[in-house]
Amino acid sequence: MFNLEKIVNLMIRRGFVFQSAEIYGGLSGFYDFGHLGVLIKNNIKKLWLDFILKEENIFLVETSIVNPSSVFYASGHLENFYDLLVECKNCHTRFRYDHYLKGEYGKVKKDNDKYFCPLCDGILTEPKKFNLMFKTYVGSTEETSNEAFLRPETAQGIFINFENYLKKYRLKLPFGIAQIGKAFRNEITPKNFIFRIREFEQMEIEFFIHPNDHFEWVEYWTKRSLEWYINDLGLKKENLFVYSQSKEELAHYSIKTNDIYYKFPFGEDEIQGIAHRGNYDLSAHIKFSGKDLSYYDESSKEKIIPYVIEPSWGVERLFLALICDAYDEDEINNEKRIVLRLSPKISPIKIAILPLLSNKEKLIKKAKEIYNYFKNYYLVYYDDSGSIGRRYRRQDEIGTPFCLTIDFQSLEDDTFTIRDRDSTQQIRIHFNDLLDYFKEKI
Ligand code: ATP
Repeated sequence: MFNLEKIVNLMIRRGFVFQSAEIYGGLSGFYDFGHLGVLIKNNIKKLWLDFILKEENIFLVETSIVNPSSVFYASGHLENFYDLLVECKNCHTRFRYDHYLKGEYGKVKKDNDKYFCPLCDGILTEPKKFNLMFKTYVGSTEETSNEAFLRPETAQGIFINFENYLKKYRLKLPFGIAQIGKAFRNEITPKNFIFRIREFEQMEIEFFIHPNDHFEWVEYWTKRSLEWYINDLGLKKENLFVYSQSKEELAHYSIKTNDIYYKFPFGEDEIQGIAHRGNYDLSAHIKFSGKDLSYYDESSKEKIIPYVIEPSWGVERLFLALICDAYDEDEINNEKRIVLRLSPKISPIKIAILPLLSNKEKLIKKAKEIYNYFKNYYLVYYDDSGSIGRRYRRQDEIGTPFCLTIDFQSLEDDTFTIRDRDSTQQIRIHFNDLLDYFKEKI
């Protein structure tokens, strides 16, 4: 696999991703996405919606990013959603303690019970708790009663709407409520490009089940997620694996968690968690809101509090995994080329329409006709600047699976050349067969 630096270079150079607030020096842990990046993110989200809505009993919701502190008091995030941090007494750099111990900042240096800074060898403080939530105030006064938080996961918005779904949608177990939305975590050390950031998007399902048949659902969602990665997104099977968290690693709400890991160039790490949250959240919201969030089970004629299995995906981590998986370099006619071998479903642009020569009116006219026709079906891109080889290369770098070239023969017999990104092979196809060809491939 290629190193992260090469991947970041390509992403920045071709405008997929920008450092946020760059002209003011940037803000660490925040990124903006350019046209090509947004298109990829949208493709991921669309494929995810296609996937989950094919499952039975999944319903969508979109909830607020800002929630009152009462929500996070109840959910336990105010007390428990922290990382341990240590700070160097000399250079004042802060490190996430568990990552420090794993050697992620460099070699761990220890003498008796003291740890030392990986940067300057200064003594590190004792670990202290650092809550990861961003606080704000709602309204015009900064009083404790107006305190609110940016959500650190989209999940709580789902739990606090549970009653609405039972009543308005009359749902029967098992069912899932799903949402795509931003989440915010004031990570101690954002790193690895868009892997660990402070503002990111999650795609989450809270899948409510009867407490009797619980553990099988963790395995169900683990299996379905892996199938989705491999069959629909085109991730390489050998770069994915499942890691079952140990008891010590479990979050404060979890009974069991399977993480799906991707083998990134900087090491293997989590792209998705599948957490068994038991009835932790619903019980907490029943207790603190005073509302009855129980479910009436018709077969046993009893009120129960459902359990919940939560598959949770991070859009940016998946984005990065897809790019790392697809990035390749090879040589064509003794010239080095960078190519993103993305699945056509993920590629931002599906077909590039290229007149062979850029100074021939007739070719340009025909190419624009073709462009205007195909734009009704796919996201296509027209380009007539520079040599054809250079134009192919520009498309290879952004993962465009097909280039359609218009040459003089096209004017005579309505046939066109399709160049395949991965093999670089070219075939000639009559206009009447083009759409079917693309429909099969894209
Ligand atoms: P980590 O251990 O890496 O901090 P986590 O276990 O805290 O992650 P979860 O709370 O399980 O993460 O969040 C679910 C998903 O949300 C993760 O699998 C990941 O894809 C995404 N995610 C979480 N934190 C971040 C972040 N700081 N930047 C980008 N994506 C994130």
